[in-house]
Amino acid sequence: MRITTIIVAAAFVASAGSAQAEDGPCNEWREAGVIGDLRCEPADGGAVIGGAARATEYAQVFPRAFATFAKYFAPSEQKVALVVQPEVSPELTAALAADGYRPLPWIDNQTKAAMLRDSIVAQVEAQTASLPEAQRAAVVQQALAKAEGAAPAHADPEMEDGAIAHEIGHLLFNRYFDGPETGSADRSTRYGSSAPDWLDEAAAVALENDAQTRSRYVAAREAYDADGTVLAFPLDTYLSMEHPLLQSAQALKTLKRGSTGAVMLSGDEADAFLEASGGNPAVFYRQTRMFIDYLMETSGDPRILYAIAEAYRDGSDLSGWLARSGGENGLPETLEALETEFEAWAKAKLVDAAA
Ligand SMILES: [Zn+2]
Repeated sequence: MRITTIIVAAAFVASAGSAQAEDGPCNEWREAGVIGDLRCEPADGGAVIGGAARATEYAQVFPRAFATFAKYFAPSEQKVALVVQPEVSPELTAALAADGYRPLPWIDNQTKAAMLRDSIVAQVEAQTASLPEAQRAAVVQQALAKAEGAAPAHADPEMEDGAIAHEIGHLLFNRYFDGPETGSADRSTRYGSSAPDWLDEAAAVALENDAQTRSRYVAAREAYDADGTVLAFPLDTYLSMEHPLLQSAQALKTLKRGSTGAVMLSGDEADAFLEASGGNPAVFYRQTRMFIDYLMETSGDPRILYAIAEAYRDGSDLSGWLARSGGENGLPETLEALETEFEAWAKAKLVDAAA
């Protein structure tokens, strides 16, 4: 069993930090009083704010993510502030925006694990109120041990780095597709750019690291081994669907929050919730990973997503782009033919890997 946690970023977690030698924006934000005594570390293309154990490693994700975006799309001028806090204060948000930074709130694995532990203890204690104290303590210990044993991926630092790169990918793609932030009123409710969700997600998944990519293929192979699934969504559905988490996020608002403001579900509960509320995003991600690899491998062009994104930005779509440019890029000229070819490509990958 896998533990999936759904965290609504509303909890405030106090984080001790100390000022270190730092330059540029960190000094400015500290003098302006918007980061208190949180640690602040400049990074290529941005900064890491907050005293997380892995803050220095987080800063090293930046140059890799920006270089990958430049390789697949184009160099980006977007600056990103990874704020290792569940919530970014309005004052900090305003100061970041004034300096051209987009905030990326982040809950580090240690904090996530602590929140999960607290939530498990609270749930078990509530359910065992009638038992003698010694028995309750034993049940709590059991539940914690079970949760810990089931959460290896959750604690994997490489997966965490890949997830940060993914989120940076969203911010860089948003900037490319829609231009600099214009401060529209619906900013907080917007998930991605005005591009279709598959393209937003493709830009983010393209920036993930090897550990993430391996996990996407492991998931795809498990589905194939289980019931022969190659593509979970038909291509036309995939190209027009909303990100599954968007629907889940709406449903999440109806769930009760714990004292920390976070909703924490066990792996089984989380899977059931995601399925019921609009689908499991992991399925969307693994198909996206294969679609990116199919397009790049078949065309031989690492910037193929960029070419397609340019078409969308000019008001066209994948169908129009295929008709015009599919042939010269070694790809089919219709969506129908693309689906057939993509499915055959994906199946060959999954059969191959299983052998
Ligand atoms: Zn994403």
